[in-house]
Amino acid sequence: MKKKKTITFDIQKCDFCGSCVAVCKTDALILLETSMQIEQDQCTACGRCVIICPFRALTLEDA
Ligand code: SF4
Ligand code: SF4
Repeated sequence: MKKKKTITFDIQKCDFCGSCVAVCKTDALILLETSMQIEQDQCTACGRCVIICPFRALTLEDA
């Protein structure tokens, strides 16, 4: 099945709180010390991380 949306990450907005990682059920987000690793293949575009982020650092965009 082809996925329609992908996660994009704005490092300027992120404060590395880890909330997005905690709500991602497929471990698609991996918080590193100075960046975010995103495993797009594991992302189901559920939107949980987008909703939980207090700074809107994550967005779902059309691929
Ligand atoms: S929830 Fe938002 S601010 Fe927190 S680590 Fe994730 S992207 Fe960064
Ligand atoms: S959209 Fe859902 S599956 Fe994709 S990274 Fe965010 S929480 Fe994880």
